[in-house]
Amino acid sequence: MFARENHPVNWKLRRRIRTIIILLVLLQGIILSVCQITRPLVAAPVEQAVEPDDVISGHHEMEHVEHLSDEQRSEIEAQLAQNMAMLTTQGKLAMRVNRETAVSLNWPLQQASGFNDYGYHGISFFVDHNGQDYSCDSRIYGGHRGTDFFLWPFEWNKMDDNAVEVISAADGVIIHKQDGNDDRSCSIGGKTWNAVYVQHVDGSVAWYGHLKIGSLTTKNIGETVQAGEYLGIVGSSGNSTGPHLHLEVYDINYNLIDPYQGSCNPLNDTSWWLTQRPYYDSAVNKLTTGTAAPEFNSCPSPEISHEATQFTLDDTVYFSAYFRDRTNSLDSQNTIYRPDNSIFDAWTDTQRSSHRDGSYKSRPVTIGKEEPAGQWRYEVVFNGSTYQHTFQLEETTPNNTDEFIYLPIVTNPKLID
Ligand SMILES: [Zn+2]
Repeated sequence: MFARENHPVNWKLRRRIRTIIILLVLLQGIILSVCQITRPLVAAPVEQAVEPDDVISGHHEMEHVEHLSDEQRSEIEAQLAQNMAMLTTQGKLAMRVNRETAVSLNWPLQQASGFNDYGYHGISFFVDHNGQDYSCDSRIYGGHRGTDFFLWPFEWNKMDDNAVEVISAADGVIIHKQDGNDDRSCSIGGKTWNAVYVQHVDGSVAWYGHLKIGSLTTKNIGETVQAGEYLGIVGSSGNSTGPHLHLEVYDINYNLIDPYQGSCNPLNDTSWWLTQRPYYDSAVNKLTTGTAAPEFNSCPSPEISHEATQFTLDDTVYFSAYFRDRTNSLDSQNTIYRPDNSIFDAWTDTQRSSHRDGSYKSRPVTIGKEEPAGQWRYEVVFNGSTYQHTFQLEETTPNNTDEFIYLPIVTNPKLID
């Protein structure tokens, strides 16, 4: 009070300063509270999955290759023309000529009986439309006139096991067959493929190339086949760098067809597929448990999958998932369930490259002795679907090498009278 009375000017100034300070404090409070409200909205942390360091990654590789030389193509065309003329004379080609009654193509592959993987293929290359595929992307190589379906995973094992069959995409007549050529090709250069050629009831023609030697249908040229009927086994005959089916399609006037409808396919306006699959047909083909990560050896050596479903507690189990058409926007959620359905471990794996036609992830996980024995489950959620694989864990059995076996050792034996 004293100071104020004696220094009226000073007192007024102090009051103003105090008012300003109060206003500033209030303003700061308002700013902070607004920031707290808006901060989570403005700078919401983008939740990015972190892949564990011990996840092993790999992918399918197929070189860009020319499947048929011009000379080979000319030979095939001449043979087809000759055979069709002969079959027409024999009355074995009853063609319709109206595209309105055209056939639609069924999927040309299936797993042989006894094989029950979620999937078994990927698509490496589509038909080349001046440097792009039907969907205006780049899954082609120059001059490619067909669709390449490769086997995934373990293409050589699948070929050796006759696991994936080529089947006729539509009803028709066999108009040509080529067999007897080596089917473990890893490179290009003048090799002849094994193939079956079918003319459909509307006059269109499908070529099924690179088949396994000796696997071709026993039906002869001129015999009919139905949609879904066995034609051969996927192989790597001819100019090829791994087992795959090359499907090439022509209309009745021998115009090349790309069965896939898309804005960059100028060949045909409509899809020739009964059901056209999506451009990125992203899915899990197979889940495995194993004793080690898979080994993909150099062509044409078979792969070593190291698959196993029986383990002992305290083992390290490799959990592997094999994908087709995985894109970098698709994370994979992995979960290991105990026999009582409780979660033992869970992790997310990610992919950096924008697209892989075939890829895998494998992670070693040790399941300790304290865990319960019984049937365990490995589950993967990917692209909206859930995939499961079961495996068995048994109690640790006593290891003989750890046990002492006491044998009576008698030193300095006394002679017994
Ligand atoms: Zn091809």
